[in-house]
Amino acid sequence: MNTLLIFDRKHLWHPYTSIEDPLPVYEVISADGVRLKLRDGREIIDGMSSWWAAVHGYNNPALVEAVKAQADTMCHVMFGGITHAPAVELGKRLVEMTPDGLDRLFLSDSGSVAVEVAMKMAMQYFYAKSHWKKPGAKVLRNKKKFLTIASGYHGDTFHAMSVCDPLNGMHTIYQGVLPQYYFAARPEVGFYDAWDEADIESFKTLLMAHHHELCAVILEPIVQGAGGMRFYHPTYLRRVRQLCDEYDVLLIADEIATGFGRTGKLFGCQHADVVPDIMCLGKALTGGYMTLAAVMAKAEVGRVISSGEPHVFMHGPTFMANPLACSVACASLDLLQETQWHTNVSRLELELEKGLAPCRAMAHVVDVRVLGAIGVVELTDPVDMVAVQQRFVEEGVWVRPFGRLVYLMPPYCMSSQDCAFLTRAVVNVVASCTEENRQKGKQAQRKT
Ligand code: PMP
Repeated sequence: MNTLLIFDRKHLWHPYTSIEDPLPVYEVISADGVRLKLRDGREIIDGMSSWWAAVHGYNNPALVEAVKAQADTMCHVMFGGITHAPAVELGKRLVEMTPDGLDRLFLSDSGSVAVEVAMKMAMQYFYAKSHWKKPGAKVLRNKKKFLTIASGYHGDTFHAMSVCDPLNGMHTIYQGVLPQYYFAARPEVGFYDAWDEADIESFKTLLMAHHHELCAVILEPIVQGAGGMRFYHPTYLRRVRQLCDEYDVLLIADEIATGFGRTGKLFGCQHADVVPDIMCLGKALTGGYMTLAAVMAKAEVGRVISSGEPHVFMHGPTFMANPLACSVACASLDLLQETQWHTNVSRLELELEKGLAPCRAMAHVVDVRVLGAIGVVELTDPVDMVAVQQRFVEEGVWVRPFGRLVYLMPPYCMSSQDCAFLTRAVVNVVASCTEENRQKGKQAQRKT
């Protein structure tokens, strides 16, 4: 182990790992296109897009140039009392691209913070309304809870955690601190299945029982990501929108993972022709080059918040609308259009489907599913992370499974040849998930 890895192992926390007994990490010294270069000289093909973000791949000249040009002009300036072209340019693009009506935006610095912002907006919306001098307005003060669906994931900050799946999430550890919200059963009818009205019953029952205390429903549209990589039926989302309208509850769509083409539509909500009241964006917003998130809201949300006490929206982070991040986001959104994301995502969908299909015949595989540029192989048992991660690197690819899921979300610019290489590696590694390493995976899962 070189000195960098020794220091890292002793001092640096990595996501969801022990600081005392961490899983091994691989040192990446550079990245270009869809390839990550390791310290030992190996180049591996990236199947993760750095967790949904690097949709254009790495070291893209237009994106690097956008950061450099902005750095030469102004790296950062506070957004309180000041504005700048990169923020306004990004605002124009987002208002134009997102579904009609979402034309007020708040720029924050990460996905989890965007979720906090969206939840605060929904709470403040009804708080403001409760101060209107209208009969019955006062009872709206009770509308400050949330309804969501099981198997969801919305981030790691406190309010975001409170709407993550209560079993997969961190509810047990933070019991007594996390607010208690409502969880409907997760949707069971898959994206490609025939719709069954019974699927919405649990959601409907909870909404009908608690709408007087609910300010919003929050969910990931169509694809539930870190909570299980599940693809649910568009009619579920359509019903959610109808019920929210009927019972005066706002709808927050967390498109942090699904946004910008990943599911085959520009936004997940578009599979169901639904427009949420508030939409969270992040990850691929900057093509994965800088950290930035955006919360898009209907004008009505802004109008109501401004009409009541305290008239302003109570949030304002130091790095709000960071110019470097906004500039690279503009360049990334331009590139998305120029490179015809839809053609690439449709091609990758077919290639992932074809490439992963052999896994279907394996006894320890429960399901293989593909939607847009997302491919998932679900196993019967959790994988042994250390062994499987190493096997993937030996195969020349970067794939990071979690639990029973081996999944791919390649950069949109990945060639057909590289995609075939990637899926072949998955087939080989999944096939080699022997009984022994599945037992190890089960034990590791129990420990965490
Ligand atoms: N919402 C969803 C749907 C996500 O997938 C994530 C990140 N995995 C987040 C919120 C949180 O984003 P961040 O990690 O940037 O805080």
